[in-house]
Amino acid sequence: MFRLAIATHNAHKVGEIWAILEPLVPGVTREEVGSSADLGAQAPVEDGVTFEANALIKARSLAASTGLPAIADDSGIAVDVLGGAPGIFSARWAGRHGDDGANLQLLLDQLADVPDEERGAAFVCAAALVLPSGEEHVVVGRMPGVLLRERRGSHGFGYDPIFLGAGQTLSNAELDADTKNALSHRGTAFRSLAPYVAQALTSP
Ligand code: IMP
Repeated sequence: MFRLAIATHNAHKVGEIWAILEPLVPGVTREEVGSSADLGAQAPVEDGVTFEANALIKARSLAASTGLPAIADDSGIAVDVLGGAPGIFSARWAGRHGDDGANLQLLLDQLADVPDEERGAAFVCAAALVLPSGEEHVVVGRMPGVLLRERRGSHGFGYDPIFLGAGQTLSNAELDADTKNALSHRGTAFRSLAPYVAQALTSP
């Protein structure tokens, strides 16, 4: 029986989020964690204009339709010289939702003439927990760094091949999954959310 719902239709993302939460949420097994797909839940319209708002929209919708504690995230990359864009539009920057290759290429092209010292950016992730009682928590994690001039590495997804974290020598796409989770915006956000998740699942 499911005890926790994660708002995504992507099985890989459930695995990634649960890998971060599992050591911090004792007594809950992977089998007790259901995705939106497992639970037959529809994705809501994400019409918030901040990462926090969109994470809450997804978690509220899933908590309401399943009656379970629900968690959701919303993430993207914020580029300094673009005033924080693509931001919440990261997944559809080149026009088609989820076209990672086109999104990355467009960002590289847009920054082609931007000098190295002006290429600051940060991955941002808001993580939300909504309980059936209406209790809500939302936290934000950031991973600062710079944008490279060409792709490096083959792990990860999205903008990982052109992102070099602050103080790192490897791009995000050259990091293994555990190392990326230890450093990433998503890892930071879900580690901050974990105590609330643990409390929700252990309190009577
Ligand atoms: P969403 O949070 O699933 O809506 O994804 C937002 C978009 O931001 C993704 O499609 C990626 O383009 C980008 N993004 C978010 N997190 C990461 C990451 O860890 N690496 C690379 N790209 C990311």
